[in-house]
Amino acid sequence: MADRRRLAAGNWKMNGTSADLVELDALADLSDPGCDVLICPPATLIGALVARANGRIHVGGQDCHVAASGAHTGDISAAMLRDAGATHVILGHSERRADHGETDAAVRAKAKAAQAAGLTTILCVGETLDQRDRGETMAVVTAQLDGSVPEDGDIAALVVAYEPVWAIGTGKVPSPDQIAEVHAGMRERLAQRFGAADAARIPLLYGGSVKADNAPAIFALPDVDGALVGGASLKASDFVPIVRALGAA
Ligand code: PEP
Repeated sequence: MADRRRLAAGNWKMNGTSADLVELDALADLSDPGCDVLICPPATLIGALVARANGRIHVGGQDCHVAASGAHTGDISAAMLRDAGATHVILGHSERRADHGETDAAVRAKAKAAQAAGLTTILCVGETLDQRDRGETMAVVTAQLDGSVPEDGDIAALVVAYEPVWAIGTGKVPSPDQIAEVHAGMRERLAQRFGAADAARIPLLYGGSVKADNAPAIFALPDVDGALVGGASLKASDFVPIVRALGAA
């Protein structure tokens, strides 16, 4: 694996109340995980997780608004996430693209706002099953990368997550060859845009039904620098083995 920071990121989505904060303890207690560990809880729990983690793991948001403040009922700005102690934000998740009609341009604007606030963006891309079946996977992923990644972005604050929509929450996982092909293609596209040296510094995560049993094979792939994990991040007993697999990769 190249000399990039590896990241095990958990996306709790709209799950979790204060009773679930206990799930953090086993993660935070890992003395030498061998990778960065991040939990992105619902916004209601960010402050409590930051306090409980006490610097031992990172805490992130699941979305942010493009504006720093203003009349946007129900939204949260990147600056507010930062103020709450978040270090990262997930942007462009397929569930937000589908549920909230987020376009690449909207995701790009949010990524700029996140960078301005000092947050690292985990920018999600990925094809639907129909698109894969039509042989459009690389075209879709490339278009999302081109449209969503800010043109003058801070490379050090960017992580890209390849998340095939059809693999999220379904138990279906692409073959190692399919993951490797997309990750290599993303690296190449980022190199065309930012130069090979900068592109080589961008961690590329895989996301979609990552579990303890499939994690080692996924993390063994050359351009996979970690995972964005949904369901298996909710319980420490599921997530800790994934973190350990990444640390051992
Ligand atoms: C996700 O929501 O980003 C995700 C990968 O979910 P799951 O691990 O549950 O497939």
